[in-house]
Amino acid sequence: VGEGGEITYKKIQSSQIMGSIQLGIQHAIGGLASKPERDLLMQDFMTVETTNFPSEGSNHTPAHHYSEFKFKTYAPIAFRYFRDLFGIQPDDFLMSMCSAPLRELSNPGASGSIFYLTNDDEFIIKTVQHKEGEFLQKLLPGYYLNLDQNPRTLLPKFFGLYCYQCNSKNVRLVAMNNLLPSSVKLHQKYDLKGSTYKRKASKTERQKSSPTYKDLDFMEHHTEGIFLEADTYSALIKTMQRDCRVLESFKIMDYSLLVGIHNLDEAQREKSEARQRDSQSDDEDYNKKSGLNRTRSINRHRLVAHSTAMESIQAESEPIDEEEDVPPGGIPARNARGERLLLFLGIIDILQSYRLRKKLEHTWKSMIHDGDTVSVHRPSFYASRFLDFMGKTVFKKIPSSLKHSPSKRK
Ligand code: ATP
Ligand code: CA
Ligand code: CA
Repeated sequence: VGEGGEITYKKIQSSQIMGSIQLGIQHAIGGLASKPERDLLMQDFMTVETTNFPSEGSNHTPAHHYSEFKFKTYAPIAFRYFRDLFGIQPDDFLMSMCSAPLRELSNPGASGSIFYLTNDDEFIIKTVQHKEGEFLQKLLPGYYLNLDQNPRTLLPKFFGLYCYQCNSKNVRLVAMNNLLPSSVKLHQKYDLKGSTYKRKASKTERQKSSPTYKDLDFMEHHTEGIFLEADTYSALIKTMQRDCRVLESFKIMDYSLLVGIHNLDEAQREKSEARQRDSQSDDEDYNKKSGLNRTRSINRHRLVAHSTAMESIQAESEPIDEEEDVPPGGIPARNARGERLLLFLGIIDILQSYRLRKKLEHTWKSMIHDGDTVSVHRPSFYASRFLDFMGKTVFKKIPSSLKHSPSKRK
């Protein structure tokens, strides 16, 4: 946060970054229309297109109120191909990215990245470090290979890599899928790594209206874990195993599983409590009062194909409850009290490769703490600990006693 309360990134006002990247993306997508669809070539992963945006406008660019800037689009043809794999039409991508102001997420990580959410809830734009941007560029061919073989994955889906340059500062940005629907109340949110070292939400985080908790908090809140139907459990774990193998092959670590939990039973209780408080209030009023914009993405077909949590894990099982006021695609689950949950999840923050990692003191300390001193094995150690934690501590198969009469338990 800069002087005067305005959010800044590298001393550039966030509102200026948002507006400028929308102009840049609009120009980039527009420019693609003249390039016919064709097979991907190796060089498509390496191309970078640069456009100048003078404030007074130019032959190809509109006039604008922001500072003059340059906009770089990395691998435009390759990313068009990725978007196509997920059924995203150029016009739809343009609409999502550029037709309405972006919303800044208030809840970013410690690294100082800024996150923007598109107004239709589909995409997230994250600022990344120079190293991370470079790494994504190198990763693209291998990432493409994986997507082509397996579009159903919990790995982040990248739809664009850009660089906004202004006053000799570089702001690198990736566009990816948004995992957490903002139209539904998430009663709890976790960023899980499978580590216990310093994995507790800070006091400031806990005071936020929708905090992101960590591993130790999860173990405290869900001592018995979260329960899934056997089929769903195996599908989820299998998908994570497959994804972690890819991450390990790229020597990637420090990624997290982001888990948003919507508690259907709690939502129902909240709803009836709100009704009791004000007998005249109907659902619409309640929605307004709780600040939810329920018209946004509910029951609308998501733009990004195979992208909901349920689709990502390739589970065959039927969703247990089709709820009217909840977006489709959450993974049905139960907590230890038998309450019905919907999980929204995916793997995030994968652009840290061990090879590129800065050797910070914290890193060494955590390495020793985690008992992994043989550093060459770190990515595989990270992956197996991650999977172990998810498969044993976080997610459990529903025991048969809970399955048939969940409400009688406890
Ligand atoms: P650090 O490196 O310090 O962990 P970061 O700046 O790299 O932080 P991330 O770990 O990528 O940030 O994400 C921080 C938070 O932003 C997550 O805990 C989550 O709340 C939110 N977030 C990140 N990616 C997504 C996504 N694809 N969909 C929804 N929310 C996301
Ligand atoms: Ca992170
Ligand atoms: Ca990070």
